Amino acid sequence: MELPLVEMAAATGLDFYDEPGPINSAQGLLLGISNGIFLCVGGLGNTNRIAVYARFKGCANTSAMLGALKQDRAMKKMYSVWKADVTPQTVLWSFCKPLRFDQEEFAAATEAFKATITNFTAPFDLTKCERCAAAVQDPLLANGCPMSICAACQTRAKKENEAQRNTYESGSSRQTRAFALGLTAALIGGSVVGLAAYMDNDKWGNYHPTFRIALTALLAFLVVLVVKRGVGRMNRATCVMASMLTAIGRILGDILSYGLVIAKNEHIAFNTELVKWTAFHLLRLKWDFSPLLFAFDGLIVLAAAELCWISRPKFALTFKKFPMPRS
Ligand SMILES: [Zn+2]
Repeated sequence: MELPLVEMAAATGLDFYDEPGPINSAQGLLLGISNGIFLCVGGLGNTNRIAVYARFKGCANTSAMLGALKQDRAMKKMYSVWKADVTPQTVLWSFCKPLRFDQEEFAAATEAFKATITNFTAPFDLTKCERCAAAVQDPLLANGCPMSICAACQTRAKKENEAQRNTYESGSSRQTRAFALGLTAALIGGSVVGLAAYMDNDKWGNYHPTFRIALTALLAFLVVLVVKRGVGRMNRATCVMASMLTAIGRILGDILSYGLVIAKNEHIAFNTELVKWTAFHLLRLKWDFSPLLFAFDGLIVLAAAELCWISRPKFALTFKKFPMPRS
């Protein structure tokens, strides 16, 4: 979904900033400060939802604020299904982009949202650091999240962040346990995938490539999920292990499905001998059956390691200048 962020900025008086921010918006953020309350607007992650996010110093009665937001008429015009996540310092209101998205109505809803938040919360004093109350010049963006923070607290936050990273890096890595769990998942998943492929395969050559590729992808997701849960913290070896286990599951599934198809077509028993023969000729069988599937399965096996690697927690913490508000 493409949001008309530039037009939305013009309608709401907010400023466009090309960062994902606290709502993880793929297209960038609209940012603003209103009486000590930080506002962020954008897409919610990769979903087709619009997010309106506010950060303030504190809220004594979050349920009363939630109730007031829910009652707001201008806001109601934007959504049919209500969703709001409230913490003592933040509110995240999100809704599906309406089919007929009216900039003016959206601006009015944002204004109403801001007014309600202002009524129920204590604002930040933007001349002070929100952590230690030392004097500060301008607000900053910490990993895209607006805040009022002094230089000393920035250094402290970076140190805390570094300490968290070290705790993670030196934490226990249960590779053996992850391997045992991952292997179990690969064997069970591989068997299911093999049987499903056999069902799909009435005759040689009569099959649904997308279905087969999806089966391998599902197997990879299952293995990565189980390995991730089992290991505690992930290193390169864990990622390689995820790929290996996915391959093992895929090979088992292939032996099963090709073996069963051969047994059926040749009217022979599916026994140890046939399993051995199929295993021995597996690469050849797989390539002759479908080079496309051969290539995709290979790619998905490699992707399992990549999926593990990118799902490691991220500890980067960067501070950037807040875009200058318009006069
Ligand atoms: Zn401070």
